[in-house]
Amino acid sequence: MTHSEAMGDGDGPCPLMANYGAPPVLFERGQGTELWDRDGRRYLDFLTGLAVVSLGHSHPVVAAAVAEQASKLQHTSNLFANEHQAPVARTLDALITGTPGPGPRHGQVLFQNSGAEANEAALKLARKYQGRGRHVVVSAFRSFHGRTLATLAATGQPEKHEPFQPLPEGFRHATWNDVDEFAAALDPTVGAILLEPLQGEGGVNPASPEFFAGIRSLCDDRGILLILDEVQCGLGRTGEWFGFQHFGIEPDIVTTAKALGNGMPVAAVWARADVAAAFKPGDHGSTFAGQPLALAAARATLEVMQEIDAPALARSTGAALADGLSTLARVNSVRGLGLLLAVELDRPVAKSVGAACLDAGLIVNALGDTSIRVAPPLNVSSAHVAEALAILGTALEES
Ligand SMILES: *Cc1c(COP(=O)(O)O)cnc(C)c1O
Repeated sequence: MTHSEAMGDGDGPCPLMANYGAPPVLFERGQGTELWDRDGRRYLDFLTGLAVVSLGHSHPVVAAAVAEQASKLQHTSNLFANEHQAPVARTLDALITGTPGPGPRHGQVLFQNSGAEANEAALKLARKYQGRGRHVVVSAFRSFHGRTLATLAATGQPEKHEPFQPLPEGFRHATWNDVDEFAAALDPTVGAILLEPLQGEGGVNPASPEFFAGIRSLCDDRGILLILDEVQCGLGRTGEWFGFQHFGIEPDIVTTAKALGNGMPVAAVWARADVAAAFKPGDHGSTFAGQPLALAAARATLEVMQEIDAPALARSTGAALADGLSTLARVNSVRGLGLLLAVELDRPVAKSVGAACLDAGLIVNALGDTSIRVAPPLNVSSAHVAEALAILGTALEES
C-alpha cells in the first residue's frame, strides 16, 4: 500500500508528510478495547494509542464530559481561570503525594498539552530553581523523554540525536540501573536527574529495586532535583497511581500526560511546593495548556479511574495477562509492571508477529526485533484478555 492509499485519500499526491511511514490501517470507531476500521473489521486494542486510552475508547463518562464542555466553553487562555483546573490539580497532588489535604509534602501543578512539553517545562523549572551554573541534567541511556530539541537531548538514544545535531547543551547520560555510573556523571553543574520509573519506549525495562533508592540518596546528598517522567507509567498503568510508588521514594518533580485525558491531549507537571515557587509569572506559558475542554476530559478521566480503582485493576489483570503471556510459544520471559508488559522472544520475529496479529485483529507493538509490548485498557475484560492471548499465541506458533 502506498503512503497516500494508507492515509485513505486514494490517488494523487499525498498531502501528509511521510514522517510516520505508511500506516497499515485507518480506524473509524472505537468502544472499550475494540476498534473498527473503515471496512468494518474489528480489532482488539492492546496498545491503546501508546498507553493513552487507559479507560478504553470512547469511554461514556469522558465522552459526555467532553461533549458537554465543547458546547459550553472550549478555550479562554491562561489569562483567565476555569472551573476544572483547581480540582484536577488537587486530585493529581493527592494521587502523587498519596495524601489528600494540605501538608508539607504537597506541591503544585502546571498544565501542558503533551508529554514532551511537560518534560520541557520540568527542565526549565529545574534550571530556574537551581540557578545559573547548575543547568546540567543527567538521564539514562535507552530512555525516552520526547521529541522537542531539549527532550530529545535528554532522551538517551544517541541514534535519534544524529540527524538533529547540534542539540541544546547540558545533557548527559548514564547506564540505566547503574547508580555508580550516575554518581560518576555528577559534578557541581548538575541540577537534576531525569528518569522514567520503568523505561517504556526504550524496551519496557524495569528498574532494579536498589536503583531508585540509590538515585534518591545521591540527589539528597548533593541538592539535585529528581524529576520523574511518568508520562507513560503514570495514572495506574503500572499498578500504582505513579510508577515511583513501587520504590518507596519521593520525587521533586513529576510529569504526566498520556493517560490523563483518555485520548484528549493534556499533560501536567507537578512539583514540590518550594520547587514550584521558582516559576514566577511570565517564566513559562502555553496558549492551549489547561484549557476547559482538555481539562474536562482530565477531570472525568481521573474521576472514573478513582471510582474503578484503576491501579488495582492494572495489578490484577496485569498478573493474569503476564501469566498467560509466559505460557505462549517462543516466549522466553515477560517483563514490566501492571499492564505495561513486554515479552522477550527466543528469536527475532517481533515485527512479523506484530504484523500477523494485526492481520488477525489484535493490535500490539513490536519493540525492536525480539520484544512485543502490550498495554491494553486498565479495565480490559478477561474475555478480551483470553481472546488476545489466543491470537498472539497463534501468531507466535506460526512465526
Ligand atoms: C510518550 C512519552 C513522552 C513524550 O510524550 P509526547 O506526548 O509524545 O510528547 C515522554 N516521556 C515518556 C516516558 C513517554 O512515554
